[in-house]
Amino acid sequence: MHNLRLYITKTVLLIFFALGGTFVFEADATPLTDKQVNKRLKKCMGIKPVNNTYFQPIVYTDCFDTSIESTYNHCTTIVPIEDEIKFTAFSELPEEYDIWNSSINPYNISLVDMKDTIMIDVSGYYPPSQKYVTSNFGFRKWRHHNGIDLKVHRGDTVKCAFDGVVRVTRYDRRGYGYFTIVRHSNGLETIYGHMSRFLAHVGDTLKAGDAVGMGGNTGRSTGYHLHFELRYLGNPINPNDIIDFERHTAKNRVFVMTAGNFEYKKEIDKIRYWTVRSGDTLGRISQRTGVSISKLCSLNGITRKTILRIGRRIRYT
Ligand SMILES: [Zn+2]
Repeated sequence: MHNLRLYITKTVLLIFFALGGTFVFEADATPLTDKQVNKRLKKCMGIKPVNNTYFQPIVYTDCFDTSIESTYNHCTTIVPIEDEIKFTAFSELPEEYDIWNSSINPYNISLVDMKDTIMIDVSGYYPPSQKYVTSNFGFRKWRHHNGIDLKVHRGDTVKCAFDGVVRVTRYDRRGYGYFTIVRHSNGLETIYGHMSRFLAHVGDTLKAGDAVGMGGNTGRSTGYHLHFELRYLGNPINPNDIIDFERHTAKNRVFVMTAGNFEYKKEIDKIRYWTVRSGDTLGRISQRTGVSISKLCSLNGITRKTILRIGRRIRYT
């Protein structure tokens, strides 16, 4: 959609310039507030504001390109050009999103060292559960919690966080339980886990606030709660970077995403050791660290028969 609009705008602008057209900006106009700009755009072009604050520059230039004269007559004091900086250009969807299948993360792209700054429109956020946080994003004892847990009661409806299309509905007995992944038009994907049933199916188009499923306690879960993840190209983002879970709103209308949002992954990738204590076996270490025995063996160059001396450090990540 954005691409198409951009393409059309570019084409119109090219024709306009080819015909010798130029834009006129009033040099000494007083800067307008965003609200005034929206009002003016609506008046002169019939363009409805996307929201009260942010406009993409593309909408802004649209104001000129149909009929420069009549537009200019109607909008005599259009915002000075330097004010264009106030408009937010949201990032286009990455081409990796051409991939559409039922894997949780089919993209296999690490954003730890990404150079770009990505602008994501999160103004349309709707809280998946209006209840409190029961467990936060971050490190747990032996593993990393990639989402945030929100209280739900039996029968509560889990709501879609942004507009989008359902990409996955699956059952994962040892993990997410009944879970749904929604691909959003703003470039994010969200995961809703431990639900008791699905209320939307693969391919369904959902608006923010539409029902995704029913709150539950399925998969690796103790007690009714919703496991909620926010991802970009398969990379989990700390939901607290975007959302205020006390006020149930987005912290800002625009989420500015940089490599900093994935810094936590460097912590995960650090090598960790288990120090062998009396009574430890590979089986027990595997159980406690959540790492399989064969992985422990290959990481440490040992076999299942190796005798574990007390005090020896066993690498498990
Ligand atoms: Zn969780």
